[in-house]
Amino acid sequence: MGQKIIELEAQYCAHNYAPLPIVLSRGAGCYVWDNAGNRYLDMMSAYSAVSFGHAHPRLLKTLNEQAARLAIVSRAFYTDRLGPFLKRACALTGMDRGLPMNTGAEAVETALKAARKWAYTVKGVPPNQAEIIVCEGNFHGRTIAQVGFSSEPQYRAGFGPFPPGFIRVPYGKATALEQAITANTAAFLVEPLQGEGGIIVPPAGYLARCAEICRAHNVLLLCDEIQTGLGRTGKLLACQHEGVKADGLMLGKALGGGLLPVSLFLAKRELMEVFKPGDHGSTFGGNPLAAALGLEALNLLVEERLTERAAELGDYFLNKLCTLDSPLIREIRGKGLLLGVEIDPRQCSARHLCQALAAHGILTKETHETVIRFAPPLVITRTQIDWAVERIAETFAAATPLLQAAGN
Ligand code: PLP
Repeated sequence: MGQKIIELEAQYCAHNYAPLPIVLSRGAGCYVWDNAGNRYLDMMSAYSAVSFGHAHPRLLKTLNEQAARLAIVSRAFYTDRLGPFLKRACALTGMDRGLPMNTGAEAVETALKAARKWAYTVKGVPPNQAEIIVCEGNFHGRTIAQVGFSSEPQYRAGFGPFPPGFIRVPYGKATALEQAITANTAAFLVEPLQGEGGIIVPPAGYLARCAEICRAHNVLLLCDEIQTGLGRTGKLLACQHEGVKADGLMLGKALGGGLLPVSLFLAKRELMEVFKPGDHGSTFGGNPLAAALGLEALNLLVEERLTERAAELGDYFLNKLCTLDSPLIREIRGKGLLLGVEIDPRQCSARHLCQALAAHGILTKETHETVIRFAPPLVITRTQIDWAVERIAETFAAATPLLQAAGN
């Protein structure tokens, strides 16, 4: 039965992913079940989109009630849901205004457009000369522009030509940012911690120094917190670890409560004011269903103290992972509940270990071939973490002799 479903999907779906051979059919809290009824602890949360766990009753209630009341009308009209959502998002993040979109990629695209228009209309950069500085190892989405400034060859290969105006600098080196700034620099786009890049935590003080450099040169600081935001790293925003306030901020993933794609570009007033009616938009962006859900997700995050939980349980989980004594592990790193275990590629592939973890009841996915990501829903409990670490230890221990036997 499972094999038939896999074959059906493989026959009709584009092969732009390489899923693990598991067919999921149900989810509740931190668990998902496959179609044979096997239960798994979700340690990946749909790339951090399921921070509240699967099928959270409060979010489901909001979704169902709002869907029955009013779901989609487009922004050709006002609705009674968008204002309250954006007011709450601005209050929590310290921003002045929000532009609602759907996916993370769209929020980033919105930020790029805002930064360019700000450069021409406010900073005085000559037409079509604006530059945006990005980092090596970045991941900001899959649009042509975003893959164009990626440093990952596979993301780019076959998709050119790419829009000009992007300059890449090494991640974690503030001096490299300073050296790359010119009179035409509009913005520096950065992830406070690189998620898809392999759970890369930059050196302490990096973001704060970047913020100073940006301010000194009249360059916008744009923080992509689509993965790191909303409590994931143990602060509401990961830039708060360094006391940094961005000029523009992107949120997504968990903002939709794990039920819908909801994203936001949030900014200070001066930046958001560059957009005039007709400059930018999205049929679904800011729809009342998404807005109601986004507001409830933000309320839940605060009321259930999920940020504090991520900080506390993230430390607990990290410390427990650090007790694993396995020759497969090169490094363990991360912040809050966004953790990565770097596997020595000479010993084992991360994908092989993810498959073995699934057989032990833990679902996750490798990133960058060598890193296993552990990013469970923020509602995970200590008991569930204890259970997971036992299974992880067993899996790693079982993988070792196999590899030694194979002569690796
Ligand atoms: N930005 C960051 C930091 C991300 O991690 C991602 C997705 O992984 C995106 C942007 C793109 O988001 P989406 O897949 O919703 O377009």
